Amino acid sequence: MPRLVWFRQDLRIADNPALAAAAEGPLLCVYVLDDAAAGRWAHGGAQRWWLHHSLAALERALAARGAALHLARGSAREIIPRLAAAIGAGEVHAGRLTEPWARARDEAVHRALEAEGRRLVLHTSSLLHEPHRIRTGQGRPYSVYTPFARALFALGEPPPPLPAPARLLPAPGAPEGLPLAALGLIPAPPIPEWWREFPAHWTPGEAGAAERLARFARAALPAYGARRNTPGVEGTSGLSPHLRFGELSPRQVWHAARAAGARGEDAFLKEILWREFAHHLLWHRPDMPEQPLQQGFARFPWRPDAALLRAWRRGRTGYPIVDAGMRQLWRMGWMHNRVRMIAGSLLVKHLLQPWQEGAAWFWDTLLDGDLASNSASWQWVAGCGADAAPYFRVFNPVLQGEKFDTDGAYVRRWVPELARLPDRFLHKPWEAPEAVLRAAGVALGRDYPRPVIQHGEGRARALAAYAALRGAAEAA
Ligand SMILES: Cc1cc2nc3c(=O)[nH]c(=O)nc-3n(C[C@H](O)[C@H](O)[C@H](O)COP(=O)(O)OP(=O)(O)OC[C@H]3O[C@@H](n4cnc5c(N)ncnc54)[C@H](O)[C@@H]3O)c2cc1C
Repeated sequence: MPRLVWFRQDLRIADNPALAAAAEGPLLCVYVLDDAAAGRWAHGGAQRWWLHHSLAALERALAARGAALHLARGSAREIIPRLAAAIGAGEVHAGRLTEPWARARDEAVHRALEAEGRRLVLHTSSLLHEPHRIRTGQGRPYSVYTPFARALFALGEPPPPLPAPARLLPAPGAPEGLPLAALGLIPAPPIPEWWREFPAHWTPGEAGAAERLARFARAALPAYGARRNTPGVEGTSGLSPHLRFGELSPRQVWHAARAAGARGEDAFLKEILWREFAHHLLWHRPDMPEQPLQQGFARFPWRPDAALLRAWRRGRTGYPIVDAGMRQLWRMGWMHNRVRMIAGSLLVKHLLQPWQEGAAWFWDTLLDGDLASNSASWQWVAGCGADAAPYFRVFNPVLQGEKFDTDGAYVRRWVPELARLPDRFLHKPWEAPEAVLRAAGVALGRDYPRPVIQHGEGRARALAAYAALRGAAEAA
């Protein structure tokens, strides 16, 4: 009997359990762009660029094995059952998703298929473990990372990745899908091509992902522990967009890291488990993208301010490490993790802007924008999430810059107007004597902004807001 494979966040053919389960007989491979179901969590702008190219790569990979990718746009609740009926499929295979909107949609598709005697079969595809299977000794979900990670390591090694099917047999009777361009993922002019630098940094698709993984395992993994916090070097894997779209499975990454020498509770594998943890949290707290996990923060006295938010988004806060990160994000669609934390902290603490605003900007501009990781990380930065850094710990953006970008390579690359400043003043140009500024060709307030707020003042404001929140909670 024919089967339908519904690709969602596993745009690959190797180690794809949904595809493997269907590949024994005739099949129809389908991708549905369903913006209405995702609502405000429809792919952001940068993700759409990636998705376009990733689907193109998947189309080519499937075609090389004899199958087409049927593309559709609209409600998957209607399209999937209709296509399953058109080819007479008994089963629809897909990878399990954790986003609340996707879970609701899967439930609806399941019911619609069942009503016609068909089945929706969900596989463990995007994660190492199903979030609902991992429980504490008391049978509850985890809310702290370290015991969660310990429990996952104790489960032993994940199963080895599945090979890509050699040949695929198309199901007869499949209707024509849309051409990729009809999905409209890449905005047409007059929208400016803000993504024009992306191809210099990234190759979406399974082959690009495998290439990047091999490069990382060879070059950066051995020194990952020492270099992962230095944004000026390629010290991390850069695999996040590939993982986000499932061009690689976490099992493949895990086993490649082991083969390249990652032993025991290796630092890199622990990062892979942060991703698992974020999805575990989202599964059990579907309100995480909107609401603080720590309820007390719901009444935090934010001070929304459009001008401050704009300065942060554009990389014009006057703090070089933050501005470098925000500009890297815009031009590359990605930001180094350490700088995400520093930039996020400035927004929510010094500037008192709601973390949801930061998360929304990241959602639109990150190629790796992932609902679970983005919401969990923003809540972590804001101090209101699971296992978060306490709110009263306020990063000093100057000291952070000096510590992690000591030689200034990162700031000089992304904030070139400061490139000629000596290291001593690079992270605090406002302290440079006039003659030093002049020699470096910098006029503060003209070429580069003065800080939007002084660190001491920002820190005091953040702590006062936190004290007010606690005072209100105690009085209640
Ligand atoms: C405010 C903020 C927002 C973030 N938003 C996202 C997001 O939308 N999508 C996203 O994938 N990551 C997000 N992260 C986590 C992290 O910054 C990125 O995963 C990482 O920078 C990706 O680069 P890499 O692939 O080189 O990471 P590596 O250091 O090579 O890590 C390997 C993989 O582990 C996973 N990972 C690493 N750190 C984390 C983490 N803290 N949480 C969850 N997974 C992690 C990623 O899949 C990553 O590709 C966010 C972090 C912060 C502080």
